[in-house]
Amino acid sequence: MTDRIARLRITRIDSPIAMRRAHGSGTIAGTVGRVILRIETEDGVLGLGEAAPWAPFGNTADTTAAALDGPLRAALMGADPSQIIGLAAAMDHALAGHPEAKAAAEMALWDIAGKRAGLPLHALLGGAVRETIPLSFSIADPDFDADLDRARALAADGVRLFKVKTGFAGAAEDIRRLELLRAAVPEAELRADYNQGLAPHEAMRICRALDGMGLGFIEQPVPRGQEATLAALAAALDTPVMVDESVYSANEMLACARLGWADCVSIKLAKSGGILAARAADAVAAAAGLPTYGGTLWEGGIALAAAAHLIAASPNMSLGCEFYMPRHVLVHDVTAEPFPSAAGVVHVPKGPGLGVTLDENALRAATIAERG
Ligand SMILES: [Mg+2]
Repeated sequence: MTDRIARLRITRIDSPIAMRRAHGSGTIAGTVGRVILRIETEDGVLGLGEAAPWAPFGNTADTTAAALDGPLRAALMGADPSQIIGLAAAMDHALAGHPEAKAAAEMALWDIAGKRAGLPLHALLGGAVRETIPLSFSIADPDFDADLDRARALAADGVRLFKVKTGFAGAAEDIRRLELLRAAVPEAELRADYNQGLAPHEAMRICRALDGMGLGFIEQPVPRGQEATLAALAAALDTPVMVDESVYSANEMLACARLGWADCVSIKLAKSGGILAARAADAVAAAAGLPTYGGTLWEGGIALAAAAHLIAASPNMSLGCEFYMPRHVLVHDVTAEPFPSAAGVVHVPKGPGLGVTLDENALRAATIAERG
């Protein structure tokens, strides 16, 4: 018996969602495609990983499953799972891009390391500087009245951060929604996320109309590639500008810092390609005085547990998180325990590794394909 990686099981699932989600870069409805990864060692330790990609960020669940089943499987099989830095480099050498797949694999390696040590992941990362993370809910239902009711109920439960998805229904409608939401949940901080929805030539005029509304930030108003416009907006507006789609890596974070693209940044494991790379990007942001935020694509309780451990151990990730999918949008998840969000915060898991148990029956019920 050794402790080497003996098996990778890659499971494609489709997860029903409770409501449609509209964004500046498109609408999703019905189900979200996810990949659940199980890495098993020869001596029987199980590491869990998850990816739930969104095509505007570069991949789908199918391309992610293929990346894991092909080049990343070859890079990981037979390796020592404790060599996380080396295996992250090996995955980068084996395949360019595919940060969602690499993040899923890397979090499974951390899960194994934590279970072996008997420590939660945040302890392996240096210890928790916070035990709870403020939860933001994203207002993205095309049925805005339903979202108003949802926001009132969440605010009554303690949620104090709401991010309104803007840029798909016109500027006047965006302002109307923000004003209605402000009236519905006056105690909450509101934020706006355009998901690249504005054309550069109109972005200044439209964002100026929101400036002065007291928003916490305006996120990614223009498409990736239009960073000169982001820099102009960040310089001109009183409201902080957040970047999301324009910054995936530590390299791009450095460009953001040097060229003044933004005042704050959304960090996602699915963009950075894992916890190590996310920490590197956050370190650059911290050095530049740019606070960061815990963003997501469509991930459920496995990937969001990994991200919660990262935020727990990262002082600069201070703008809260949008880890609402498992409790508020997914009809079913594949974890045995409910995701630990309540009363407006996410509680950082305390169990060994990710601190998450797989519900094998729920996974089986959702499976549409499995390899390995
Ligand atoms: Mg965003």
